[in-house]
Amino acid sequence: MTQEKAIATPSKTKEILHKHGFSFKKSLGQNFLIDVQILKNIMQHAGIDKETGTIEIGPGMGALTEQLAIHSDHVVAFEIDQRLVPILEETLQAYDNVSVVNKDILEADIQNEMKEHFKEGQPIKIVANLPYYITTPILMKLLMEQLPISSITVMIQKEVAERMAASPSSKSYGSLSIAVQYYTEAKVVMNVPKTVFMPQPNVDSSVLHLTLRTEPPVQVENETFFFDLVQASFAQRRKTLNNNLARHFSDKYTKQEVAELMELADIDGSRRGESLSMEEFARLANMFYKSVQK
Ligand code: SAM
Repeated sequence: MTQEKAIATPSKTKEILHKHGFSFKKSLGQNFLIDVQILKNIMQHAGIDKETGTIEIGPGMGALTEQLAIHSDHVVAFEIDQRLVPILEETLQAYDNVSVVNKDILEADIQNEMKEHFKEGQPIKIVANLPYYITTPILMKLLMEQLPISSITVMIQKEVAERMAASPSSKSYGSLSIAVQYYTEAKVVMNVPKTVFMPQPNVDSSVLHLTLRTEPPVQVENETFFFDLVQASFAQRRKTLNNNLARHFSDKYTKQEVAELMELADIDGSRRGESLSMEEFARLANMFYKSVQK
C-alpha cells in the first residue's frame, strides 16, 4: 500500500469527511489521526505480526484499523458511533480481515466477541487511539476482565499515561499507577504532538505500552481490600499514612491501633502514600486484612 492512499492523511481524511457530511462529536472524543508515520511508530511499539489477532477500540474512519488490517491476521474494532459504520465499510473495503462491532466498549462482552472472531490460542493484542473522556474506565475494564491478551498499546492523554507508568516517589505516582502495574508492566513509549490529529485535542498525548503479567508482582490476601487501602492511602496526598488510614479504618480501629498495625507491617506511619512501593502496600494491606478477619 502506498502512503498517498492511506486514510491517515489530512487530504484523505477531509475527503471522507466531506463525502459523508460527517461532523465530529466532541462528546465521543473524536480526534482522528492524520499522520501515517505516527501510526507506523505505534505499530512498531505494539509488535504486531501476521499471526496476531488485534482488537481496536474506536476505529473512527479507519486510520489505525487499516494499518492493523495490513499487519495483523484479523482486526476486531469496537465503535460506538453508528454513523461511522457505513464509512468504515467504504474506507476498509479493500480488507477482508476486519470485523466492526457497533458497540460501546464499556458494555460489550469482549470475551465473547474474541471467541467469535479469533482462532483458539491465537496471540491477541489491543491497539487503539482511545477516546480520552473514558481512558481509565476502558483500561480498567480490559485489565480487570483478565482477557487472554498479551499487550495493550494505546494513545492516551499524556498526563494519564505518566500516572499509569509512574514509579514511587514521583509526582505522578498514585493509586492508578498501582492499579495498572498490578496487572501489567507499563511504559510510556512515545510522546505525540497535537498536530497529528483532526481536530486537534486540547491536551498532549502519549503512547502507553502495557505488557500483561502472567501473575501479579505481589501476593495479596484480598484484591478489593488491597485496592481500597491503596486508594485510601492517597485520599489526601499531603497527609501521612497514619492520618489517611486512621480515617479509612475509623469505624474499626482507634488511631493507636492503626499505628500499631503499621508498625507490625514494618511501615513508618509518618510516611506518605506516594513513597510506598507496591510490595510495601501489599504488606500493609495483608496485615490489616488479617487483623480485620480475626
Ligand atoms: N482510531 C481513530 C483514529 O485514530 O483516527 C479514531 C480515534 S478517536 C480518538 C476515538 C474513537 O472512539 C472515535 O471513533 C469514537 O467514536 C470512538 N468511541 C468513543 N467512545 C466509545 C466507546 N464507549 N466505545 C467504542 N468506541 C468509542
